[in-house]
Amino acid sequence: MPVGDPALTLADLAGIKVTQLRGVDQRTAERLLGLEISTVLDLLQHYPRRYLDRTRQATIGELLPGDEATVLGSVVSAKSRRLGGRRTLTQVVIADDTGQLNLTFFNQQWREKQLKPNSEVLIHGKYEVFRGQRQMTSPVVDLVGDRTGRIVPVYPQSEKAGLTTYRIASLVTEAINRSRARGFADPLPASVIGRFKFVDRQMALQGIHHPSSMNEMYQARRRLVFDELLRVQLELVRRKQALTTQTKGIAHQMSGDLVNRFHESMPFSLTEAQRRVIEEIGKDLAAEYPMHRLLQGDVGSGKTLVAITALLIAVEGRYQGALMAPTEVLAEQHYLSVRKMLKQLMVPAPNSLLGVRPLRVELLTNRLGAGQRRHVLADLISGGVDIVIGTHALIAEKVEFKALGVVVIDEQHRFGVEQRAALRDKGTSQDAPDVLVMTATPIPRTAAMTVYGDLDVSELDQMPPGRTPIATSAAQSPLAVSEVWQTVRDEVAKGRQAYVVCPLIEESDSLEVSNVADMYAELQSTELADLRLGLLHGRMAAGEKEAVMAQFRKGALDVLVATTVIEVGVDVPNATVMVVADADRFGIAQLHQLRGRVGRGQHQGLCFLVGEPSTSEAKARIEALVASTDGFELAEVDLELRGEGTIMGERQKGRNDLRLASLRRDKEAVKLAREVAVEIIEADPDLRLHGGLREEIELLLGDNEAEFLMKS
Ligand code: ADP
Ligand code: MG
Repeated sequence: MPVGDPALTLADLAGIKVTQLRGVDQRTAERLLGLEISTVLDLLQHYPRRYLDRTRQATIGELLPGDEATVLGSVVSAKSRRLGGRRTLTQVVIADDTGQLNLTFFNQQWREKQLKPNSEVLIHGKYEVFRGQRQMTSPVVDLVGDRTGRIVPVYPQSEKAGLTTYRIASLVTEAINRSRARGFADPLPASVIGRFKFVDRQMALQGIHHPSSMNEMYQARRRLVFDELLRVQLELVRRKQALTTQTKGIAHQMSGDLVNRFHESMPFSLTEAQRRVIEEIGKDLAAEYPMHRLLQGDVGSGKTLVAITALLIAVEGRYQGALMAPTEVLAEQHYLSVRKMLKQLMVPAPNSLLGVRPLRVELLTNRLGAGQRRHVLADLISGGVDIVIGTHALIAEKVEFKALGVVVIDEQHRFGVEQRAALRDKGTSQDAPDVLVMTATPIPRTAAMTVYGDLDVSELDQMPPGRTPIATSAAQSPLAVSEVWQTVRDEVAKGRQAYVVCPLIEESDSLEVSNVADMYAELQSTELADLRLGLLHGRMAAGEKEAVMAQFRKGALDVLVATTVIEVGVDVPNATVMVVADADRFGIAQLHQLRGRVGRGQHQGLCFLVGEPSTSEAKARIEALVASTDGFELAEVDLELRGEGTIMGERQKGRNDLRLASLRRDKEAVKLAREVAVEIIEADPDLRLHGGLREEIELLLGDNEAEFLMKS
């Protein structure tokens, strides 16, 4: 590459195929493709997963049983033998100056070929002494080769395909060396680099791939993490900004009268948190840009009241409100409780004799009869219906509103972005309705900044008073479990009801998971023989499920043995006990949701997490649930334990630019990136003055992401 050409942008790097690197033949290219590397940019963004610091490596001689350790050694021998059936056992011996270590692998005969005598390997695993032998079972193996240098990067590699970490390292080094003449373009404003004392792109890429000290690597990582987070935040903030400045919303007029009457009709006063959140929402509604807000609040924190308040503000200004629930059952439940809460309310009706008429709430789901449905649809167009509650049926083509003002989306199970957008498009005037999304599975604030970064976030972080927190205990011994059933019998004797939840409905050979039907049969014939048991699972017909639920609701059943179909939307105040079988198979959020099904009435709720956790992580999850009933606190623990994978999940598909950054480890960086993004976008909404950043966002957040961002 001739000197004098402009510095290389990431887009330039994305335009160079790896086959242009020395020695990358077809076979190597295919192997690289297996790691999703086809361009030099892919290669440079294939970051090391670990570093070998030769000066600080443990030696085999100093390992203690139980240590989780990384050791460097060379292969002495590797042999496989059959275990019977198709199973094989491969035993590998490695050694360093201080001793020998045995490695065992099951069904990985290819290790024999991979681990040739005298090759240098980095082993990471749990060290044990078994029958006097030092060993590790199924450790992580990295082929280090004869790389020199104090710090050696260890890359995610394809061991089977024979692409070693040193091969990757030398390709990366070549790419960096050949780029040196032109250098790497740095799109980050110098002022930001200066403020945070960041290293530049050149040093960052060099330092992450080939550091001469661990400190150099940390500085490189800090910079690259920031770059990743900044790109995401810029896009989110840009989009949020676009929504507020380019879309015209409704500036709701509020006298406060209707809302006041509603609040006064409640048998309780609002919590501080409810007041604060309602004020936040009120400000958004009064403004002339559309609201785009997320309400996070634990089960039972009183989100419904907040939602109704938002809908009433719309109604007060002669607009309509819509509440969308993820399932029909939930929609019906919302409908019943909203109707009850709004029963007494009158709204102005200038053309009527009295000048007022009762506020009208309607339900719209696919279960509605054709006649009734037509009726509701017509009255939505005429404006006779003030508030409509429904499922996705609400976004069906035929539904039209006279003047949709506020949309509340109850997102227990997360609507797609498209659905949210479709509902917003129901606004008939060009003015976009205000949107409030509610979720009962809070995620930590820093995570929310990324996952819901396009939304403003309000938190109901306080429970209504007078509620006794659910008492949760773990039952891990047979004795403890039999006490659980005793408690269930006692509670039923007091007139209460109980749930027993099992993780799977089908028998699975490999997993010893309680089968809900087996559980039902067993309880019915043993521990709970004298009680009235019902069975509920996802494979039952809708009508059947309904019938069982109805029986349970009216008290004709004492105990409901169910799968997680009851996770959302079951509201039986008389149920006080939740028994979760094989609790270690559930995630924190799910257990917390399940637990939220009890203690909804005036009686103390009890939750039992049954089963011995099989991993240390499962143990930590169960301990967290026993220790805390605070959904926000549990969300933090969950993020700690599992990382962001699950949170990012569905929603983040295609948003794959976060390679180094972790929402868990890099919380501080998330906040800084957000701040910088807001600064930049406020001064330069379309990134006209930040062409480099803009180009990287387009390149790395990809089409998927762009589309995602446009739609929602
Ligand atoms: P969420 O939807 O957040 O799970 P709900 O809105 O269903 O919670 O409220 C749970 C229960 O708490 C309902 O019975 C509701 O009437 C009651 N509630 C709501 N706000 C308050 C309050 N400020 N004081 C007392 N009870 C409240
Ligand atoms: Mg609710």
